[in-house]
Amino acid sequence: MKTKPQDFQPFINRMMADPELKNGLESDHLDSERQYQQFKENFLKGKCYLCGENITRCDYAKPCIHWLLRAHKRIKKKNIEEALKTKDLNQIIAFLRWVANSDEKLTQINDFEAYEKRDGLFYQETIKYKNLNWTIWIKEGDLKGHIGKQIDFPHYHLHMTIDGRNFINFSEMHIPLSEYDVFFIYARTGKYPNVGFTVPHGESFSDIFNFIPEEELLDGMVSSDDDINAPFHLQTFVQAKPGKLIKGSEIAKLVKEHNETKVPMAVLLKKLDADTKVLVSPNKLIEPVLRDEPKSGR
Ligand SMILES: [Zn+2]
Ligand SMILES: [Zn+2]
Repeated sequence: MKTKPQDFQPFINRMMADPELKNGLESDHLDSERQYQQFKENFLKGKCYLCGENITRCDYAKPCIHWLLRAHKRIKKKNIEEALKTKDLNQIIAFLRWVANSDEKLTQINDFEAYEKRDGLFYQETIKYKNLNWTIWIKEGDLKGHIGKQIDFPHYHLHMTIDGRNFINFSEMHIPLSEYDVFFIYARTGKYPNVGFTVPHGESFSDIFNFIPEEELLDGMVSSDDDINAPFHLQTFVQAKPGKLIKGSEIAKLVKEHNETKVPMAVLLKKLDADTKVLVSPNKLIEPVLRDEPKSGR
């Protein structure tokens, strides 16, 4: 199985050179748009778009990833494990992100860890929905498999809490990764200059920061009086140019304009004849669930 970034280069080259393959990917995109609409329509009615059953239904004969919502007490860990094996990880992530974003956009998904170069970490993402919390965790070692432990295949780990209590622990499951999952993670985390990957309608803050230039983010922003619920937090550093002073009256003028127009101060401050640097950061993001470094290298 292909697990190294360069393993997928021939595929990327073919994709870039072949308009038909590109069109194929575009129709994939349309397909996921269509799937999202189906998801939304059904989810609002308490139904699962994948199996057609009620979300609260648990029919052991029809394993389905809607069991991750554990809306029925009969759903045990082993049932969830069985359901996870019916879909690729990227489909599971899309499903959970759609569920999370149905509650509140952006703040319920934290995949920043995936972009930080922590030693040996291949991918991590935490998704929250109401009282449920899922963390996907993959170390470099999981890509190779744990040799000699009958888990000698590429896999991911899942951690799940309900009401803050552990329901599934990181070490309990080793769910196989598909080759496409591995490619998808490389593409998402920016391994290939020409290829990106997002989940339509399932975007996280880091997707937005990675795919939308900061200037465009600022342009589209309207300042909110509700500091706690605003999705972005802006900090602006203003420094006078050498030999110059910033006048208090100029700042006061901008504050007045800000109050009247709701244009963020970060944007208005750029009118000053000064050096400004804007820091855009997500407000109110859920905490990632970190795994303690295991002792036995699992
Ligand atoms: Zn289902
Ligand atoms: Zn493992």
